[in-house]
Amino acid sequence: MTTSLHRLLPLVVLLFGAANAAELVADAPHHCDACETWSKPREPFRIYGNTWYVGGGLSSVLITTAKGHVLIDGGLPQTAPTIAANIEKLGFKLTDVKYILNSHTHYDHAGGIAALQRASGAQVFASPASKLALERGGPMEDDPQFAFGPEHNNFPPVKDVRIIKEGETLRIGNIAITAHITPGHTPGGTSWTWESCNGDLCIALVYADSLNSVSATDFRFTGDASHTSRVPVFEKSIDTVAALPCDILITPHPEFFDLDAKLAQREKNPSQNPFIDDGACKAYAAAARERLAKRIAEEVASK
Ligand SMILES: [Zn+2]
Repeated sequence: MTTSLHRLLPLVVLLFGAANAAELVADAPHHCDACETWSKPREPFRIYGNTWYVGGGLSSVLITTAKGHVLIDGGLPQTAPTIAANIEKLGFKLTDVKYILNSHTHYDHAGGIAALQRASGAQVFASPASKLALERGGPMEDDPQFAFGPEHNNFPPVKDVRIIKEGETLRIGNIAITAHITPGHTPGGTSWTWESCNGDLCIALVYADSLNSVSATDFRFTGDASHTSRVPVFEKSIDTVAALPCDILITPHPEFFDLDAKLAQREKNPSQNPFIDDGACKAYAAAARERLAKRIAEEVASK
């Protein structure tokens, strides 16, 4: 009896060891009109230096160092396996992802985080308002999209989220990534900045949060009986993004930084990096400002 147990023990250890090796167990898929397009896989590629695109139809970015990696955004619940596979395809290990960050707490950017956290063992960091929504697994009552309801909004809850404050810098290896809390689209929305180097040439990268003034039907950015105007805070966030050191802009929805056009450009002329554009953050902010002004005019007209 004892002998056979002893003989079995190495096998048991081996099996448990194998199960620990980044076996990603995805959560139930989210259903929405755009979800099929958003969850389409995409080949991973280098954006610049140690910064890689590992998402599908929604952006996810991996920043790598010899000491461990940082992942920004987890896509939909059904995107998590794509992100995990893309990380491994590039030759990195999912278990070397030490930190997971998020742009904003909607199901299309936070939905895959719980599964990615379980499989990697990474620590999730978020702004104080985003921590509440991530741990709830859905937006809080003050989110402009809250009234869409739980079936539309909710995503797998994330455990043990640590708070990162405005202007705080997270460090791992030679990465220093700074949080810029840019509320408006959501109450805890966060933009992230860091430097990546190609040889000696180090440039400023920005993962700018969504700055879209979209909401559930009855929400008013200009305020109503239930809340004061969100306009000053939103405008401040837009100003913040416009003023960031920014050689490369990345956004949660890839069409907002013209991903496909830039990849086609790079194909044509591989010696140039079309992602480098020091006017991109300013243009992104200007377009958001225009949309917000239009939204304000519509709300005022409908009073
Ligand atoms: Zn959103």
